[in-house]
Amino acid sequence: MSGNLKHSTSMSSLASMDKGNSNEDITLSSLHSQFSRKPSANMVLGTNGLSSANSVDDKARNRRPVGDKIDLTRTKSDQERPEEDDRRSRGQAKAKRKRKRNMITANLTGTRYEVIRQMVEHVGFSISRDDDPAAFLIWNDTFVSSERISDLKPYQRINHFAGMGEVTRKDSLARNMMKMAKASPDEYNFCPRTWILPADFNAIQNYMKDLKAHKKNKTFIIKPSNGAQGHGISLCRNIDKIPTTENFIVQEYMDKPLLLDGYKFDLRIYVLVSSCDPLRLFLFNDGLVRMSTEKYLPPAENNISHLYMHLTNYSVNKHNEFYEKGTSMDSGSKRSIKSLNEHLRRNDYDVSLLWRNISDMIVKTMIVSEPHILHAYRMCRPGASPCSDSVCFEVLGFDVMIDRKMRPWLLEINRSPSFGTDEKIDFDIKSALIEDTLRLLNIKMSDKKKNMNAQKMEAQKRLFRPTKRAGEDVNMSEYERQRASIERRKDELKELLQRVKKAGVREEYENRNRGRFIRIFPTDDKARQERYIHLLETAFTTFMAGRAPSMHKEIQLSYNNKLKESDILDMIAECEVDEQQGRMALIDGKRGPARGPKPLVSMPSSDVVPSTDKEDEDMEEMSESISPPGSPYRNAIVNRSRPGSVNSRVSNRTGSVLSRPNSGVNQGQGQLGRPVSGTAGPGSRSRQAGGQKFTHIHKSNVDDSFLTNIIREREDELTKRTLQALNDMRIKFPGKSDQEADIILDKLYENWKFHKPRIASYWLVKLDSIKRRKVIDIVRSNVRAVLQRTWRVPDVDNLPIYRVFSRVFNRLLWSHGQGLWNCFATSGNSASWETIFSKSTDAIDENELNCCRRIVQLCKDCLLIVYQFAAEAKTASQGGTERDIDPPPTQRSDSKLSLVPPNTQTMSQRYSKLYARTEALS
Ligand code: ADP
Repeated sequence: MSGNLKHSTSMSSLASMDKGNSNEDITLSSLHSQFSRKPSANMVLGTNGLSSANSVDDKARNRRPVGDKIDLTRTKSDQERPEEDDRRSRGQAKAKRKRKRNMITANLTGTRYEVIRQMVEHVGFSISRDDDPAAFLIWNDTFVSSERISDLKPYQRINHFAGMGEVTRKDSLARNMMKMAKASPDEYNFCPRTWILPADFNAIQNYMKDLKAHKKNKTFIIKPSNGAQGHGISLCRNIDKIPTTENFIVQEYMDKPLLLDGYKFDLRIYVLVSSCDPLRLFLFNDGLVRMSTEKYLPPAENNISHLYMHLTNYSVNKHNEFYEKGTSMDSGSKRSIKSLNEHLRRNDYDVSLLWRNISDMIVKTMIVSEPHILHAYRMCRPGASPCSDSVCFEVLGFDVMIDRKMRPWLLEINRSPSFGTDEKIDFDIKSALIEDTLRLLNIKMSDKKKNMNAQKMEAQKRLFRPTKRAGEDVNMSEYERQRASIERRKDELKELLQRVKKAGVREEYENRNRGRFIRIFPTDDKARQERYIHLLETAFTTFMAGRAPSMHKEIQLSYNNKLKESDILDMIAECEVDEQQGRMALIDGKRGPARGPKPLVSMPSSDVVPSTDKEDEDMEEMSESISPPGSPYRNAIVNRSRPGSVNSRVSNRTGSVLSRPNSGVNQGQGQLGRPVSGTAGPGSRSRQAGGQKFTHIHKSNVDDSFLTNIIREREDELTKRTLQALNDMRIKFPGKSDQEADIILDKLYENWKFHKPRIASYWLVKLDSIKRRKVIDIVRSNVRAVLQRTWRVPDVDNLPIYRVFSRVFNRLLWSHGQGLWNCFATSGNSASWETIFSKSTDAIDENELNCCRRIVQLCKDCLLIVYQFAAEAKTASQGGTERDIDPPPTQRSDSKLSLVPPNTQTMSQRYSKLYARTEALS
């Protein structure tokens, strides 16, 4: 939940970078204490806590490795015990080697930055001595080749994507942005107008002539296409200064920047791309404000050569004698973004809006890059499944300028942003950024072993896969063809299930380990997400026209999949039923299964199946047969109940249910070997990401953790209310009172030995999968109604608690109804269906579990009542000759109820109907 909330409030939390959240701020003292606890992480800081220029990097570099120490302290007597010492040191070395073997290794030979080394050790990785190609993590300052990415094992991670140059080279960025701007001009208007030389020389020439003709004067900035750190940049106001041949870009100069203390500045914003298949983007919740060192004046002939005035690069301005090293986050020529936000807020700027716009701009830019990096990634990693972990990640540095109207402008993107730590502010921000990146990547020791096993399995699969001979399709019987297509559909569904499961696990991990990152894509804001999906489709159409249609399908599946785990499990179960029916039909000499495979995109989400026969009608009738808690009828019964009477048992049903043989409700509370999140931390609630609860709270600017607590408390309260409502719920026997229904249930349980084989054959043999589902749906639709009322949401599908319930309902239908039938046989503390939670990563708290137990009990009661109702109906139709149990005290007096499923009626309709029935009964 917390993750969910934080994502949704991402911009406000970005905007509140300045709010000084002491939990989040990594201060020098906190780092000190962290490092003092962990001596292996070498951090050298200057006295008074500030490092002098280059001190952090340089001093660490000059440090002598511990192993090089010459021991002058050994005495003669020590030397007399060489064997013992040797043995000891051999043992220690062996233990060290073993320890290292069990550590995640990092190959840092390709980076010159000490802060990366420090953070890698800080998170517990071991740095490999040489250029180890098999290291778990490979960090390179420069771009890596596609071949290197291809050679990586699936458990490895490297810090660059192939194809990223499409947005990190200045000319490529300009070209791609122009193409996207043509397709979506209103969305892509955040880059200054750019001309790529020499190709656009005539265009810029004409543009400048036009300006001159209209007596307008504009300034342009000329940059080398593949330049960095301000090298080769100049300003010009005259056409003659524009180079004609070389690879440069010319850009409109933004001459009205927002100023800080009279100086021009730009922002260095860090973005982590953790994967491109699917695209996942995280924005770091701090960064650098880099200021120029000469007060800003609008560009004019007499100042356009003043680079300290017009450029904000640190690499340029550090050479100015007026460059100020800051003593804190909000002073000097380099400051933190948090401090800038504070400053803007003090001056009444809308900081939240600014960060919403910046985040939007970043996502849109990365959408432009996606077709390129995805294409390159798939070329490098053919056959990698879309749900597998990405071997590539990238920390990008976005350079953003803000104008006086608070509009952000994208200047460029750096694929190798500097991790130099010349100043304390650099160390504070960059160390936190790297640490959070390493944690978010979720590199695990076990991945290597898993990878080896997966490879073995894949090889075996290939070995034993039946080879398909030419013309085989033609010779296939109708049944075989249908079976093959069901198999295909099942495989497709299983893959989708894997994908959805993996996405859920990944999201939960990210929510718990994102540190100071905010996920900006995919986003929980539905409207935004839809807009981004549309832009992604546009990007694929623009850049990969040929493959766009197939990509559009994939985009929908990856970013807009509305199917949940439970829906897919349902569909797999459906396939199995189809398969079985096909087999039965073959045995009967009939046609194969009636239902063929459906394309994934058109998978049904509704579980209402049209009724066909008498049994169906019974089910429909039963679907109306739960008295909802709070209905006048229910209350009347409860109020009339006396201690010891049947009614009192009814009002205390949970207890009475317990007394029935093998009942599951309220048994073994908290005794499961699975995570029970009673004292859940923020992470344990994070599975609620994507839920639709309390979106109105998400929008506010209130502190995140405060909100998280409020929301958690509120959810706990609503879960308790749901449990109460479920406990009050009863299965209605048409035409009978709750009391009578209760007596029927008691009798069935009392004579369980007698009824057991009959009920088993009714449920497991007589009812087919559709009818079994209808029995369960009687409870399901009423549970939905309770959730709608209690949680006050129109669409309960997205409620995490409903997803938990769905899993239980599916489990009950599992293995042709065996799931529910097992519940009758279960004795002991925890029923077998509860293992769905013990084996899952989903945390479920005690109240949710009790709700599930109550639901299982309702389903059991429902089956018994449906069974009894059917038996009585049959008896009645046979003239009362065949009776399974004694006739109930009251005859069926009311006519059949409406066949309209309950969730298609309004609650008031349902109440009035039930009320009318109550009147009739009394
Ligand atoms: P480099 O990669 O060499 O740093 P940039 O594109 O980041 O090149 O430009 C360097 C600096 O020039 C920026 O930090 C910014 O201060 C200034 N600058 C770049 N483009 C513009 C522009 N279009 N308008 C105003 N200033 C700009």
